[in-house]
Amino acid sequence: MLIPQNYWHSTLCAENRPVPNLLVIFGASGDLTRRKLIPALYHLFMRDLLHSDSRIIGCARSEMDKQQFRQSLREFLTGEDQEKLNEFLGRVSYFSGDYSDPATYQKLRQQIFELDPGQTMNRTFYLATPASLYPQIVPELGKAGLCAENYEGTPWSHVVLEKPFGFDLASAEALDRMLHETLRERQIYRIDHYLGKETVQNILMLRFANIIFEPVWNSSYIDHIQITAAESVGVGTRAGYYDQSGQLRDMFQNHMLAMLALVAMEAPAVFDADSMRDEQLKLIRSIRPFPIQELDKYLIRGQYTQSMDKALPGYRQEANIPPGSNTETYVAAKILIDNWRWRGVPFLLRTGKRLASKRSEIAITFKRVPHSIFPQLRAEDLEPDTLVLNVQPEEGMALSIQAKQPGSKLCMGKLTMNFSYAEVFGGKVPDAYERLLLDCMLGDQTLFIRSDTIAAAWKLLTPILEAWQKSDSQKLDCPCALQFYSAGSEGPNAAEKLLDGIDSTWRTIK
Ligand code: NDP
Repeated sequence: MLIPQNYWHSTLCAENRPVPNLLVIFGASGDLTRRKLIPALYHLFMRDLLHSDSRIIGCARSEMDKQQFRQSLREFLTGEDQEKLNEFLGRVSYFSGDYSDPATYQKLRQQIFELDPGQTMNRTFYLATPASLYPQIVPELGKAGLCAENYEGTPWSHVVLEKPFGFDLASAEALDRMLHETLRERQIYRIDHYLGKETVQNILMLRFANIIFEPVWNSSYIDHIQITAAESVGVGTRAGYYDQSGQLRDMFQNHMLAMLALVAMEAPAVFDADSMRDEQLKLIRSIRPFPIQELDKYLIRGQYTQSMDKALPGYRQEANIPPGSNTETYVAAKILIDNWRWRGVPFLLRTGKRLASKRSEIAITFKRVPHSIFPQLRAEDLEPDTLVLNVQPEEGMALSIQAKQPGSKLCMGKLTMNFSYAEVFGGKVPDAYERLLLDCMLGDQTLFIRSDTIAAAWKLLTPILEAWQKSDSQKLDCPCALQFYSAGSEGPNAAEKLLDGIDSTWRTIK
């Protein structure tokens, strides 16, 4: 679809201005910091969204001085304006320390006080470490007096956490108790980077800033919704973590349910953090519990095996994966939501590793027309309209409708109207971490997950994890059996069973 250059002339922006912030990154020597956080901060800096007084302090165990740390970041910021890059790196410092040693936090306190003697700046502590270190770091921050806020909460002290938020309901609740011993909920920012993606945020604009979608956004007009998050890569270098976690915990409990909530929730009273998160919670609580006795009708788990041409290894052949591992690398589910809006509409969610391609999308399939007025064309010959929200690799959306093909005959065909963010904006779409880091520094929790929503998600999924564990240890022939799929394929055949009674197939991942 061609869009004129001045298309966005009437854009309404509600962007807050940046405020001075001291951003401390724990785990600063790691992959997330170098690949995502620092480039995102640099791009914010280039867009004038990092306040000129803001500073970034990295902390990790690795011995490095400030210059070595800055140098280590350069390769992740290649091709950038050297002068601006040097200016940005001039705001970055580093110190090494052991997270379990109180002296580390005293050292940090001293650095913070040197940079902000009047203690007027907001503080953001980003925990880019393995989650097992959160119970060490958060209490120590508290003991060092670094998280204290006055009653009004200004200046702020915010703590940003990366998933996983627990491994099941009990561990998530324990993590939560630990956090709340030091922090108030308003200080905790739990990141789900899918929520920072433009298309995912656009779900709300699409639904609630337009009149044409919401009247048909219900069980009267929508046949089913498919949400896919497919990765072409395997377990990579994360074997140790992933084999303990699996796809249900790593992708489904967070990103998949977060996308589902945005697509299916009711309109919040206002677009603010509490109203938004109240609606998300309500939606997650409305999901019908999975019937464990006939789980395979609603949810299946899979694991990739060596590809047909042997070019890709199976999961059990990957480095550092135990040869007998039953960890799932694929999950597909049919979810039903028990509320007025969605009664009877299946939500088909699937996520996996080593699938045919990297693709994340939300596809809304509308019902067929009830009757065809066109001679020779039955209602069932007319394809249903679909709206596809592309989340990655290219963010955008596509609406497919039936239209007449030019000519004297009555020929009907599918017409797809495509919108690509990169095409329309003529450049790169900001990475999700840019938006999320900015929101943390602005104190806006709207795109971050609240603890009750996490607990509701674990409450839904923990019985499944327990049933899987039981079936693995007792080798029961049960409806939780692990299904295998060839690496590079579209996933296990058993996923087809979830479509029983639905007039559709899984959308192709290629
Ligand atoms: P890393 O495994 O690279 O760890 C980050 C840093 O933490 C390391 O550089 C290391 O620094 C320190 N560290 C690691 N293990 C230990 C340990 N046992 N004890 C003390 N320090 C340790 O993690 P990532 O950077 O990949 O990820 C950080 C967090 O973000 C994790 O919770 C991860 O689950 C999450 N995440 C990561 C994503 C990614 O793309 N990488 C995506 C989404 C979430 P040093 O040895 O110098 O102290």
